[in-house]
Amino acid sequence: MSQLRLNPLNGRWVAIAAERASRPDDFAPRIEPPAPSLRCPFCPGHEEETPPALETYGRDGEWLVRVVPNLYPAFEGRGDFAVEDLGPVFHQAPGTGIHEVLVFSPDHRASWADLDDKQVGLVIAAIRDRLEDHAEQASVRYTQTIVNHGREAGASLEHPHGQLLGIPFVPEELQAEIEGFAEGDDACVLCTTLDDEEAAGHRVLLADDRVMVVCPFWSATPYEMLVIPRTHEGHLAHAAPADLVSVSRAMRDSLAALTRLVGDAAYNLVFHTAPHRSTDRFHWHVHVLPRLTSVAGFEAGTGVLINIVAPEQAAHDLRRA
Ligand SMILES: [Zn+2]
Ligand SMILES: [Zn+2]
Ligand SMILES: [Zn+2]
Repeated sequence: MSQLRLNPLNGRWVAIAAERASRPDDFAPRIEPPAPSLRCPFCPGHEEETPPALETYGRDGEWLVRVVPNLYPAFEGRGDFAVEDLGPVFHQAPGTGIHEVLVFSPDHRASWADLDDKQVGLVIAAIRDRLEDHAEQASVRYTQTIVNHGREAGASLEHPHGQLLGIPFVPEELQAEIEGFAEGDDACVLCTTLDDEEAAGHRVLLADDRVMVVCPFWSATPYEMLVIPRTHEGHLAHAAPADLVSVSRAMRDSLAALTRLVGDAAYNLVFHTAPHRSTDRFHWHVHVLPRLTSVAGFEAGTGVLINIVAPEQAAHDLRRA
C-alpha cells in the first residue's frame, strides 16, 4: 500500500507509491507506423492480462468500454484517513482508496478525439457509474478522473484509457476551487463565467444549449480549454444524461480541433466534480490541458505559470482549425 505524507511547508499531501516503479513501460513512440501491439493488455483478446473487469459496456461479447482495477494501484484498500504524527514535521497516513483504469475504446490507436457519437456517450456514462460506486465507500472522500494522452502528459500505455483515483481526503487543488465557489454571495463563479464569456464571445471555442468550451480568461498554458456544462450541478454523477453526452462530445470536438492545429499533442483531461457526499457549492467541469511546454523553475518556485499564447489567440486558432 502506498503512503501519504504531508509537506508541512505548503500543507500538500504526497503519495509515496514505490511499487508503481515496477510497472512495465510499453509506450510506443506515437510517430511509429500503426501496428497492433501484441503485448498491449488493453486490446481486445488480451482481457486475461488485466484483473477481471468491474464493468463492461457493449454487447455480444464485444466490449466498447471496459473498467478494470489498476494492476499497480497508487491507492488501495479500505480504511479511513488515519493520520499518524511521527513528530512535529512527520505526518503520514495510509494510502487507502481505489485506483481504476477506464479503457475507453477497443481501438488501440484511437483517442478521445476519434470517438463516435455512441462511444462519447458510453465513456462518460461509465465515468458517472464509477463515481456513483466510489461515493458509496465512506472512506473515499474524492475521486479524481483523468486521461493522460501522450508520454509528455504521463501516459505509460498507449492504448486509450483514463483513470479514476478515489482518495481518502479532499486534495488541495479541489479545496482551492471549493473556496473559489464559496466566494461571492449568490452567484456561482462558473455560472457567471458562462454568462460573461458568452457576452465577450472571443474566447468561446464552441457552445450549444447544454455546454460551452472556452479558452478561459486566466488560461495558464497554451490552448488550455475549460468545458462547462450549462446546468449548475456540483456532482458529475448527478448530471442529466443529455448534459453528460454533450460535455463528452464537446471534449471530442475540442480535442479534434487541437489535433488539427498542433498535431497529436500530449494533453491531460482533468474532471473536477464535488467531493463525494459534499453539499458545498460546486459546478462540475473538465479542464483540457495540452502539454506543449514544460514547467520550469519559475513556475515550480512560485506556482505562477507563464503562458506564451493568449487565450484570445488560442480560441481564434482553435476555431479556425
Ligand atoms: Zn491496445
Ligand atoms: Zn454554477
Ligand atoms: Zn477545476
